[in-house]
Amino acid sequence: MIINFRGTLKELLRPQFRGLGSIAYELTRRASVKDIIEALGVPHTEVGRLIVAGREISFAAPGAGDETLEVYPLSPPVDVTTPTVLRPIPLPGITFAVDMNVGKLATLLRMAGFDTLYRNEIADPDLVAVAVREKRILLSKDTDLLKRKEVVFGYLVREIQPEKQLTEIVHLFGIREQFKPLSRCLRCNALLQPVEKRQILNRLEPLTQTYYHAFHRCPCCDRIYWPGTHRAKMLLLLTRCGA
Ligand SMILES: [Zn+2]
Repeated sequence: MIINFRGTLKELLRPQFRGLGSIAYELTRRASVKDIIEALGVPHTEVGRLIVAGREISFAAPGAGDETLEVYPLSPPVDVTTPTVLRPIPLPGITFAVDMNVGKLATLLRMAGFDTLYRNEIADPDLVAVAVREKRILLSKDTDLLKRKEVVFGYLVREIQPEKQLTEIVHLFGIREQFKPLSRCLRCNALLQPVEKRQILNRLEPLTQTYYHAFHRCPCCDRIYWPGTHRAKMLLLLTRCGA
């Protein structure tokens, strides 16, 4: 069969095919189009649409020797809450599970207010299991992790620099309007709760006591947050993300 990879998907193909738009694939066994695409190097999470003869098909469709398969990348904004042919059971909302290889991105997503699971030293099967169970989008730089069959919603982070990674994710999922800065603990992901200044006065530095009046506390780790904590960094991020 002939397989045409579109756009950025060409860069994910195995080295011998990289950059080629069109591949003549010899079918030697019965295989689903998902298996064929992944054998050529592209994780299924990166595919937005599969078209054969003008008709959209699912990952489970069998490859056929006389067909031409068009493989399109995810097209922003990707709405994971709406059913598609490739992913018929949508997610209830936008939450993330972040792999260790993009750990700093987890902190930035929490800073922007997104529910983001991140654990140090978690094994790949456990990360996949918790992402699937908790209906989270799995973000990683590991193509093999994203090829796991249990993963439905995931994304291969392309950028290297964490702030650019955040911009990449915000653009892909179209979630700029959902930013809620200073709503979540950067360390434990818990939602922050307002706390009276007088209750925590003895824990504040003199300048903070003088200049800040609204405070939040993490119910898990008891860390205190106020607008000075990371406001400047957040504003910079918002600017870079196109705010
Ligand atoms: Zn905390």
